[in-house]
Amino acid sequence: MSSFAVLNASQLVTLSGPKRPRIGPELSELGITPNGGMLIRDGQIERVGASDEIEKNVGDAVVVDADGRVVMPGFVDAHTHLVFAGNRLDDFERRARGETYEQIAKAGGGIWSTVQKTRAAGQLDLLTLAKKHANWFLRCGTTTVEAKSGYGLTIEDELKILRVLRQLKQAVPLEIVPTFLGAHAVPREISPDEYLDVVVTEMLPRVTAEKLAEFCDVFCERGYFNIDQSRKILSAAKKLGLSLRGHVDQLTNSGGAKLMAEMGATTADHLEQTDEQGIAALKKANVQPVLLPGSVYALGSSRYPRAREMIEADLAVVLATDFNPGSSPTASMPMVLSLACTQMKMSPAEAITASTVNAAHSLNRGDSIGSLEPGKIANFVIFDCEDYRELPYWFGMPQTHSVYVRGECVSRSSGL
Ligand SMILES: [Zn+2]
Repeated sequence: MSSFAVLNASQLVTLSGPKRPRIGPELSELGITPNGGMLIRDGQIERVGASDEIEKNVGDAVVVDADGRVVMPGFVDAHTHLVFAGNRLDDFERRARGETYEQIAKAGGGIWSTVQKTRAAGQLDLLTLAKKHANWFLRCGTTTVEAKSGYGLTIEDELKILRVLRQLKQAVPLEIVPTFLGAHAVPREISPDEYLDVVVTEMLPRVTAEKLAEFCDVFCERGYFNIDQSRKILSAAKKLGLSLRGHVDQLTNSGGAKLMAEMGATTADHLEQTDEQGIAALKKANVQPVLLPGSVYALGSSRYPRAREMIEADLAVVLATDFNPGSSPTASMPMVLSLACTQMKMSPAEAITASTVNAAHSLNRGDSIGSLEPGKIANFVIFDCEDYRELPYWFGMPQTHSVYVRGECVSRSSGL
């Protein structure tokens, strides 16, 4: 079977460490091997160490020379809305001109415009668009994404999106973890209570019967789903065996973090408005916060979540893109790292841990991906830099040299 060795990494950033999400000072421990190398067999990491030691064990393996570049685990993006049709360029321009969310919605923009376009698109068209998005992720060094439904908001359209994700898994090397987000918004044609009933009694049973999702998510926010409604949806999902995630405390501090703690959720996402009580509740229930600075940036806000307080409270912080056409149109984890460092005062090392091994744990995949350790899947990236801190430092510039999924090169930059 196929085997190859990676040699001469200026820094082999292994993220080796305890087999659980990293907290507090552990977030800064990247397990770097200077001048490192790796031996890979059948898509799995067999050996990690100093490059000259690995070289002695190369045998008949094909050698990939990292030539003094950084080698890291592929990014794990734990919060994306990957499947949608169209874009929101008009919203973007209106926001740039200073129009409010209400004015934009009135002009036919907002989430509803994406729902309409996604409903109108056939499964094949959506798959074509999703493949394009998947390639963006790979080109930015991401090898696994969580991806949500949520732009269908009818049974058939939500199932259509989740089926696209299932097809996408077969069509691209990007690894995909599907999440059902039927409760993303209330569709215009039906009352909130009626829609809640549809999500709980019709959508969730169909989604789980077809095994189309691993997680259930809900948009818990004023004007979307309140605490009681969110609790009903998450309880029903839990009974059906789904793990839980939630969009909470993004625009208002409505007690969403506490609800996720009460529900025993895997993650609580956004948290821009979460206060110290919410942080304490997350800690008590071991819920991982997923922070999405890309959406704060793209909406032109300055209210970033309290990452430092969360790290000091020993929460296993995760960073993700929130890739979506409205509030965070980016698949770039290096851009998110830059925002984490400049706007949330996370160190480059903390940001990398939050976007690799901690993110893997938040997707129940901490034992197979997120670090470069023997036995793990060989998902890794060679970056065109010598020091990992260059990733958030040279912001907005592509630094991906080549990307490997299960030991196969799936993306290579054309170089400068
Ligand atoms: Zn989101």
